[in-house]
Amino acid sequence: MDTVTDVLTASEYAPNRMSQILDTVEHVLAEQGVHGLTRPNREWRPLPGVTTRTEPIMVHVCPTGRCTRSEPTPARCSLTNQPLESVPLSP
Ligand SMILES: [Zn+2]
Repeated sequence: MDTVTDVLTASEYAPNRMSQILDTVEHVLAEQGVHGLTRPNREWRPLPGVTTRTEPIMVHVCPTGRCTRSEPTPARCSLTNQPLESVPLSP
């Protein structure tokens, strides 16, 4: 399972490697008499109800640049009372 998690969370997703892992899992289970745990077509699609994020995740940071404060929601700098600056967490 750790290998599956590693492949799913790697920065470069490797569908061929995931297919190899699923083939191995299916083979090992078949030897134990368990069949059909995975689908043979190895088609990748989002789970029902899961959509691709279109809005960036934002973080609110101190506008003075003199402290490392960051918040998930809007707030104000405790020193200057300025609103924290909203910046994207990832590009
Ligand atoms: Zn501050």
